Amino acid sequence: MAKKKVATRLEREHLSKVASLGCLVCQRPANVHHIRPIGLGIGMRSGHYQTIPLCRDHHQGQFSIHNCKKEFEAMYGTEHEMLQKTLKEIENIEEANNFFNYNKGENND
Ligand SMILES: [Zn+2]
Ligand SMILES: [Zn+2]
Repeated sequence: MAKKKVATRLEREHLSKVASLGCLVCQRPANVHHIRPIGLGIGMRSGHYQTIPLCRDHHQGQFSIHNCKKEFEAMYGTEHEMLQKTLKEIENIEEANNFFNYNKGENND
């Protein structure tokens, strides 16, 4: 039953992009927090895509999404809202990168 899913290369890339955004609350260096799965559909079935960046304090500190979820969400938005924000930011970075690669006339995989 407990099927451990190893992250694929694309998933790992995504996770490092999420972390590189920095904490959603304070912009400090972040780890990824896997949010409670929600039905996202459209090629986003993997839990690895349902992650948001949070620093150690906001992730697992005294006032964090793990220890004070209700208060935390009331203050900073729900996990779902934070996920949308995270994906949007990555999308923006991605668009900028694609544009840059296109103009270089080179596509390094
Ligand atoms: Zn933080
Ligand atoms: Zn977490």
